[in-house]
Amino acid sequence: MLLFEVDEDELVRRLSGRTTCDVCQRPFFGRSPGETCTEGGQTGTLVRRKDDEPDAIRKRMQVYQDQTSPVIDWYASHGANMVRVDALGTLEHVEARVHAALGISR
Ligand SMILES: [Zn+2]
Repeated sequence: MLLFEVDEDELVRRLSGRTTCDVCQRPFFGRSPGETCTEGGQTGTLVRRKDDEPDAIRKRMQVYQDQTSPVIDWYASHGANMVRVDALGTLEHVEARVHAALGISR
């Protein structure tokens, strides 16, 4: 079992950086709400989901702490083979850590 760990500030940064086109539903990262999308020959506006607003993300993290982390503790105390993976950094860095955790050499 792999447990990807990212601190709350980084989660807020990643999730609040997501926007979606209100017409074609394409996801974007690093573009702001209100910007225009012209993919697919239609014009849409980028919007941020309400649950990706920073305050909502922090509430979601509280729910995670209250309801999900006890499940992780249960697995850990019942002998689950759980490896914690530092999920900060680039996709390539995290992928390399996953490979190392699984004993896969490239
Ligand atoms: Zn679009």
